[in-house]
Amino acid sequence: MVGENYQIIQEIKEYAKEKNIPIMEEEGIEFLTTFLIKHQIQSVLEIGTAIGYSAIRMALIQPTLKITSIERDEERYLEAVKNIKKLHLEDRITLIFKDALDVKMEGEFDLIFLDAAKSQNTNFFQLFSKNLTSKGFIITDNMYFHGLVEKNEQEIKSANLRGLVRKIKEYISFLNNNPDYNTIIYKVGDGVAVSEKKK
Ligand code: SAM
Repeated sequence: MVGENYQIIQEIKEYAKEKNIPIMEEEGIEFLTTFLIKHQIQSVLEIGTAIGYSAIRMALIQPTLKITSIERDEERYLEAVKNIKKLHLEDRITLIFKDALDVKMEGEFDLIFLDAAKSQNTNFFQLFSKNLTSKGFIITDNMYFHGLVEKNEQEIKSANLRGLVRKIKEYISFLNNNPDYNTIIYKVGDGVAVSEKKK
């Protein structure tokens, strides 16, 4: 990464920290960007832009990559627009300001990256898998949800969190029982699931 880009990336990370915006952990980003190169991914659909951090990191590692990313929070979307402009990536990153569940997506992508509301992962998977190329992958972040998925349910005090963890477990079971995909969950970052379309 060239010096100026590095500086802007650091500023984006700082902003995320200050405003408490969850962005992908470094280990997860490294896994994702290495995956892009290894599988020669040319197009990505990302659900959950936040302020554009992961989309920018992907675009910077793979200079021909095109990304479409969806975000429903206006303030974050506008910050993402600014960040993408700063790095001159407007030609390769297209942002959609909308609830992903209301998007009628057209076209096909080599990779779909699910990183939005964790309780909606099964819905996102079902909605967007039609937009995957025949050799495509769906990657989902936060499969461990900060270690809570592996905890005993009684240890989780908040009822909301317990509900969310239950949803993530249901999603894991949905992936494992999906006849059209092979899924591996990698112990990197906060847990990353890679679902590969069966040939
Ligand atoms: N991928 C980003 C990164 O690593 O830089 C982080 C995304 S953050 C974990 C999740 C984002 O998804 C939030 O900004 C949230 O507003 C957005 N989100 C949640 N549910 C959504 C939905 N149904 N449609 C669009 N965006 C959604």
